[in-house]
Amino acid sequence: MTFATLGLSPELLLAVAARQYTLPTAVQTEAIPAVLAGQDVMALAQTGSGKTAAFALPLLQRLQQDMEQDREEGSKEGSKQRKVKVLVLVPTRELSGQVGQTIEALAGHLPKKLKVAVIYGGASINPQMMHLRGGADVVISTPGRLLDLLDNNALSLQHVSTLVLDEADRLLDLGFADEIKRILEQLPAQRQNLFFSATFSPAVKKLALALLHEPKRIAIEDLT
Ligand code: ADP
Ligand code: MG
Repeated sequence: MTFATLGLSPELLLAVAARQYTLPTAVQTEAIPAVLAGQDVMALAQTGSGKTAAFALPLLQRLQQDMEQDREEGSKEGSKQRKVKVLVLVPTRELSGQVGQTIEALAGHLPKKLKVAVIYGGASINPQMMHLRGGADVVISTPGRLLDLLDNNALSLQHVSTLVLDEADRLLDLGFADEIKRILEQLPAQRQNLFFSATFSPAVKKLALALLHEPKRIAIEDLT
């Protein structure tokens, strides 16, 4: 299996080559076609197995297709307000930065520039509010600060088409279950859900079952 046979666009293949990824990892090989097809995904794979690109590459491809379609339909070029289409929840500030950098790098060759917003707590909220003016295509956030921004009407999640829970086990270990629940209430019911975790405790399983609809299961023996 190569990245090309997984159905990625030439621009994304360039980005992959620039990062010197020669072959897709196992989780990438399984997740990329499913995410491209719009399926929910539950992936259990160890740290370092390439989970970020497993969701970022296919989601970038779909965002690119959406933008091309908007252009064909003659949406106003001048309208700069972007709607959040992809929301990635991460447990820590450090991880929000890492995922943000990876997504920015992988998006680097796309013909239309995407706006990626990285949001985290433990830093002043005002610059993040300013950055979100005009919207964003992709938001990567820790749960608590996202709720603060939602309470301040700094962004809307009404147009999110894909939710990613990255490092779901750590999100739960850090006590974010209630925050995640409150965020879910603000998302459209009809959406794609992608769930990535390195471990699979009963709490992780419960969250996955509550969130996912007929997911493609990767490295999972039994989710029932
Ligand atoms: P995980 O989220 O599963 O812990 P990451 O997405 O952070 O893993 O990736 C771990 C490392 O592997 C990163 O340095 C990333 O750039 C690299 N990587 C990801 N995919 C590939 C690939 N297909 N080939 C080589 N390196 C890769
Ligand atoms: Mg990861």
